[in-house]
Amino acid sequence: MSKPNLPNVKTQLFIDGKWIDGDKKGTKAVINPANGETLTEVAQAGEAETTRAIEAAKKAFGGWKELELAKRVAILNKIGDLLEERAEELAPIMTLEQGKPLKESKGEFLTGAANFHWAAEEARRLYGETIPAPNNHAYIVKKEPIGVVGAITPWNFPAGMVTRKIAPALATGNTVVLKPSGDTPLSALAIFELFEEAGLPNGVANLVMGSSKEIGKTLTDSDDVRKLTFTGSTAVGQTLFEQSGQTLKKLSLELGGHAPFIVFADANIDDAVAGLIASKFRNNGQVCIAPNRIFVEASILSTFQEKLVEKVKNLKVGNGWDEVDVGPLIREDAIDKIEDQLKDAKAKGAEVLVGGKKATGDVLENGNFYLPTILGNVTRDMNIFYEETFGPVVPLITFETTEEAIKLANDSEFGLASYFYTKDLSRVEQVSSGLEYGMVGANEVAISNPETPFGGVKHSGFGRENGHFGMEEYLQVKFVNLKYRD
Ligand code: NAP
Repeated sequence: MSKPNLPNVKTQLFIDGKWIDGDKKGTKAVINPANGETLTEVAQAGEAETTRAIEAAKKAFGGWKELELAKRVAILNKIGDLLEERAEELAPIMTLEQGKPLKESKGEFLTGAANFHWAAEEARRLYGETIPAPNNHAYIVKKEPIGVVGAITPWNFPAGMVTRKIAPALATGNTVVLKPSGDTPLSALAIFELFEEAGLPNGVANLVMGSSKEIGKTLTDSDDVRKLTFTGSTAVGQTLFEQSGQTLKKLSLELGGHAPFIVFADANIDDAVAGLIASKFRNNGQVCIAPNRIFVEASILSTFQEKLVEKVKNLKVGNGWDEVDVGPLIREDAIDKIEDQLKDAKAKGAEVLVGGKKATGDVLENGNFYLPTILGNVTRDMNIFYEETFGPVVPLITFETTEEAIKLANDSEFGLASYFYTKDLSRVEQVSSGLEYGMVGANEVAISNPETPFGGVKHSGFGRENGHFGMEEYLQVKFVNLKYRD
């Protein structure tokens, strides 16, 4: 397929229901990672525009919170319907700005639709509690929205992270100021156009782009922003955590991961290989829950490795708008990071079994393409054992016993996703209990669904997205002690 043209998409800030330019901030180019071309320029905001967006969200909060629930639900469902209907035509926007294959981009908008539909349904079930009380009293516990929510999202899922935050925030009656990643703002802008079309009242959702430091600081310093939800790197999460101390904000931090993927000797090896390929090479490994350390029981290493190498060799690398399995990496420095990790690992005895270099060829010349790579003989003294990779590299590590596998898997500062394959039921219990991770896939890699809790422990952050746990993050509890008779 030839390169699609960038569909018409707004490039301005969206504040209080209006598309506006930034005050004297100029514009920023959005670059296509597949060929280095500039797709368009987007408006830039700083403290002044972010403050206006917060004020707009604050002004809109009362009306949105009080809006008849059926009306709120109808608007959210309408947004979900529009995302579903338009997924096909929105997909090129994401592929052009982020690089992932078109089928993944379309799937992500469909997931966005599912997030809105699920949150709309759940908005009807935000039950409180009554608690047994002394005579003449009722103890009532209500769940209420928090107020203005600041949301900051990364580039790897330019629609998924936006909808996963905004759908529950709005469904629970809050208003939002979003700052999408500077690398991939266009998918978020397209989603905001749908908000308008669905009749979301002015000021309920606002979008600012620009200096992330300045916008982040304005959000964290504002006492009007009562909740901050962030997905991104652990380092930036730590900064936002510190900055939010003065205003004592409620926080959700979805940070980095370094997922272990354990294959026991009794596993269905074909299933494990297929699961690894699907989860590792989705979005070219630029996924916080992508398997990053593959632990294989020593007795099956050669069989597992052989099957894996065969499949990985055949993965097609190319532009996301062609029929490919793997697109480009987001920026050139992502390749530098992979090459540093590989250099260190090779110097310490690791062996490149497939890939291990930039992809070449006419159409790949100006893009950030790297070959899917398998690294054998990986050990704990290598940087790749401890550092998040965020690219298409599969490091293979062997183990002998279940206890050793659990210990190796837990040897990480991160604690987001983990996976293991075995047919032994008692081992399923032992390993899923032993893994210090927020999510565990047992013989399964699909661990992110609109209805199930997503999030991590340790340096992967805290708070949960999706499911009723995700809705709770945007609610606060109020206790009413009612004396109803003298
Ligand atoms: P990042 O550099 O932390 O950026 C994430 C977002 O934070 C972007 O919008 C960025 O804006 C903004 N930002 C950067 N510095 C900031 C600051 N000082 N104050 C406020 N905002 C700031 O992460 P990334 O490179 O985009 O994403 C990759 C990371 O995200 C990986 O570590 C990955 O594991 C993690 N991730 C986690 C999850 C999860 O659910 N746990 C999901 C996806 C990704 P600009 O882009 O405009 O600078």
